[in-house]
Amino acid sequence: MEDINLMNDEKLQEIIAYDEQYYMPVFGKRVPLVVDHGKGAYLYGTDGKKYMDMIGGIAVNTLGHGNGRLVRAISSQAKKVIHCCNYYYNEPQTLLAKKLVEMSFADKVFFANSGAEANEGAIKLARGYWYKLGTPKPKIITATMSFHGRTMATIAATGQEKFRTPFGPVTPGFEYVPFNDIEAIKKTADSQTGAIMLELIQGESGVHPADFDYIQAVRKFCTENKILLIIDEVQTGVGHTGTFFAYEQFGIQPDILTLAKGLAGGVPIGAVLANKVASTGFGPSDHGSTFGGNPLACAAGLAVLEEIESKNLLGNVQSVGAYIQKKLTSVGKKTKKIAEVRGKGLLLGIELESGSSADVKMKLFEKGFLVSSIGSNVIRIAPPLNLTRFQAVKFISAFQDVLEGKE
Ligand SMILES: *Cc1c(COP(=O)(O)O)cnc(C)c1O
Repeated sequence: MEDINLMNDEKLQEIIAYDEQYYMPVFGKRVPLVVDHGKGAYLYGTDGKKYMDMIGGIAVNTLGHGNGRLVRAISSQAKKVIHCCNYYYNEPQTLLAKKLVEMSFADKVFFANSGAEANEGAIKLARGYWYKLGTPKPKIITATMSFHGRTMATIAATGQEKFRTPFGPVTPGFEYVPFNDIEAIKKTADSQTGAIMLELIQGESGVHPADFDYIQAVRKFCTENKILLIIDEVQTGVGHTGTFFAYEQFGIQPDILTLAKGLAGGVPIGAVLANKVASTGFGPSDHGSTFGGNPLACAAGLAVLEEIESKNLLGNVQSVGAYIQKKLTSVGKKTKKIAEVRGKGLLLGIELESGSSADVKMKLFEKGFLVSSIGSNVIRIAPPLNLTRFQAVKFISAFQDVLEGKE
């Protein structure tokens, strides 16, 4: 039935045909939804159908769609000035930097336009730091199954060969160690190792959380051996795990941290945060960005942070996230079709016991729910931080129906 409705939607067919003709095929065959608009936790297709957005633009739509505070901030900033470049100062940029410093371990901030770009900045900062000290230490250790972006240096940082091999030679100087294995780091690090770069939950490779003890041990090792610790919170940052930064739950402070996805609620932005010591890696003209830190993106970022604070969204993430994790775990026990529900807050991976995650994703889509499928057997959700308990109940029940094969 759904298929017939879809076939009848001319707009949908037209856009899909144009995409096939004109867009580079990097996204493969996409979910057959042409997004028209969104409201709260819901997206609406050009076919008029409504979908609960449980992936939130991949952890980007922090406040859902059409949030009043965010829309007002963007439109009033657009009326004032959208872009002015970094020859000049702009108030939203300064205030967002100040706010991020006050909220975190950091003393200094730099703004970029995406996660990969923030990570490029972090990698450059670490190398610049050691160079300026007169003892270059270009090597950076990262984890296997990590994901740090799609640019040349960040595919080199990414511990998954498939992202690098066709595009070599990539940026040299990266070494990969198994995740959650402190001994592997100890064996690999040497006098040329300037930084270790890790995610606290490996989101893109299936939502694999780091062990608390591992991160503690990495921090200790870095401090003792004068190695900079870079934490990539492009996905885990901005509240999705129930604290603003995930590192707060690991009892450590990084030297350098990157943010992007959720920071401006959908407006492209990236950020490099660093403590006083690490931030000396950049001096005048060492780095920059034409768009980075523009007033529009930073005004959006400020609105996101204000909304998180004023609506106690972190509390909501903790309670709704724990509820989903608990309920889906018991659905798993009942149906014997879920191997594990893992992650923190509203960044969760549901590993299926059997069957294909691509199938489950499409069946959920037909029922009006958007999720992402990773590899062959993991469903990932990263919904807006203001998802309600009521919406969570609907999602859990649809998920159970799909597992039980109910129409
Ligand atoms: C998404 C992601 C990136 C890349 O961000 P882009 O904005 O797509 O460049 C980097 N690191 C992590 C952990 C991510 O999840």
